[in-house]
Amino acid sequence: MKRLFLSLTFLLALTTNILFAQIATQKSPDGKLELLLFLEEGQPSYSVEYSGKTILEKSPLGIITNEGDFSTDLTFTGHKTSSVEKNYTQEKIKQSTIRYEANRLVSSFEDVGQRGLEIVFQVSNNDVAFRYELPQWGERRACVVEMEATGFKFPAFTTTFLSPMMGAMGAFARTSPSYESGYTNDEPVGKPTYGNLGYVFPGLFRIGDDGWALISETGVTSQYCASHLSDGTKEGLYRVAYPDMRQNNGFGSSGAQLSLPGATPWRTITVGSSLKPIVETTIPFDLVEPLYQASQEYRYGRGTWSWIVWQDQSMNRDDQVQYIDLAAEMGYEYILIDALWDTNIGYKRMEELISYAHSKGVDVFLWYNSNGGFNDAPQGPRNRMNTSIARKEEMKWLKKVGVKGLKVDFFGGDKQESMRYYEDILSDANDYGLMIIFHGCTLPRGWERMYPNFVGSEAVLASEMLIFSQDVREKEAFFATLHPFIRNSVGSMEFGGVFLNKILNRGNKRGQIRLTSDVFQIATGILFQNPVQMFALTPNNLTDAPVFLIDFMKEIPTTWDETRYIDGYPGKYSVIARRHGEKWFIAGVNALEEPLELDLSLPMLAGEKVELFYDNNIKEALVTSNKINKNGQVSVTLQPKGGFVIKQ
Ligand code: CA
Repeated sequence: MKRLFLSLTFLLALTTNILFAQIATQKSPDGKLELLLFLEEGQPSYSVEYSGKTILEKSPLGIITNEGDFSTDLTFTGHKTSSVEKNYTQEKIKQSTIRYEANRLVSSFEDVGQRGLEIVFQVSNNDVAFRYELPQWGERRACVVEMEATGFKFPAFTTTFLSPMMGAMGAFARTSPSYESGYTNDEPVGKPTYGNLGYVFPGLFRIGDDGWALISETGVTSQYCASHLSDGTKEGLYRVAYPDMRQNNGFGSSGAQLSLPGATPWRTITVGSSLKPIVETTIPFDLVEPLYQASQEYRYGRGTWSWIVWQDQSMNRDDQVQYIDLAAEMGYEYILIDALWDTNIGYKRMEELISYAHSKGVDVFLWYNSNGGFNDAPQGPRNRMNTSIARKEEMKWLKKVGVKGLKVDFFGGDKQESMRYYEDILSDANDYGLMIIFHGCTLPRGWERMYPNFVGSEAVLASEMLIFSQDVREKEAFFATLHPFIRNSVGSMEFGGVFLNKILNRGNKRGQIRLTSDVFQIATGILFQNPVQMFALTPNNLTDAPVFLIDFMKEIPTTWDETRYIDGYPGKYSVIARRHGEKWFIAGVNALEEPLELDLSLPMLAGEKVELFYDNNIKEALVTSNKINKNGQVSVTLQPKGGFVIKQ
């Protein structure tokens, strides 16, 4: 009887597998996250479940190369499973000591010509990652991947937080796309974008009450293009899309040129029943390794920069001296001297200015235009980064005069052409001991770990737009509640924030009124993560801003040992805790129209003495010293467009 029962169960399982064409599965180490792999009529697909809830319905897999179509007419030839364990340290991301554990599934397929393709999955407790691995096919050692069938099919009731891909050769001086769009706000799947350009990574999806998913990619090197999401269908399918051919002024291919054996980047799906795993994920870094050794130890820290508030007119010696003095007064490690220094100050006088900075204990970042021939951005220095010959000559001078880092701006797009350029700058800069910040650029995809001298990228509607746009000033709090859950979750974000000017211009008297509170501003200094932060403080803030806020900004760290989700909902409010050494900082901001009362559970602060920075109801900054109770329970009130910080 028992045997009969067993064989019936076996038969049932077999029939179910045939019906649904399931060929393999893999679970996370804790068993909650499950990947299911299918092949139906030669077409591979996968689905993802978390705690028994469907996160992704059957979603297409496959790539299309110039050697053949690997999305259809495939045969499954077998699979292997194993486990992956990795421990590493990383000083400049959200966490310093990381343990990655995953279960691996390697599934093998063949096309009609018996050429192989492997789809490799790694399932950790809250992340599914996968990539395509292409072997050498006989004598064929090179191919072009032209497009992908890969998709993410969410249940139709899913809502989205997605940032549209910008059109090619648009915006200022034809410098787009630069990942500087707004976001859909909890909107249904399937909303078309203007021009059907799709959405940038990362994309956040809320699967009703069943969970959350953040989709991104990592491990993009010079060997591939950067991808993004297509527009979604109203059934909830978003596909992996390659760059628009019109990017880079139409120059360069939109696919990927691969040496065989080769692999695509990893695509990642971070999953949770709350936003906690999304805030805390290290998956962009877990899947990659350093591509070269650091030529020296790089030092992270805080900086001042005149351009953000004082703008182009401040590119002169006297104003830069004021900002060097401000950095020295704040105890900051850096000044960023922005665009136009080459003509307005000149190389010779720059050497004197850099020496002056050094005499005050301040190191220097310098701005460069990445152009080049792919857009019209006029600011100098131009044509110093875009060829190997000019770049190395420039970097030799930079090293000689003791510059520590560059901010390179105005890139062309996401083509492999651009990825090669990013990598070339990073690799050469390391040879000359220079750190690199990118602006007007793509999302970094694992680069903090891959390139030891990479600091961070803009790739966000950053602080500059608060100066330029009333609409962005009105939405400042809204965007600030999105970034910890989306953009900043997968990569360092060079935002350039923390304004203590009430008016966002040099006079601080009339003009662009800041609509968020002072405490909101310092909270973003904790909420937003980048290992070097150029803050938007101005010399007058030393006398016109509350002293306790300036004191806070003198001690603010920019590197973190731990990051924890505390509370929040994208578009409404966000509360994040970060630890630097032994000290915890908890920061929150509120984008709602009403005051928000939160009862927070902060066990890391149980019984500890802390300072609480908060807003009164007319949004003046206040500070009190408190002792947190033994349960670690804390009640705070966040004013509209206000915030709080708890500092241990
Ligand atoms: Ca920008």
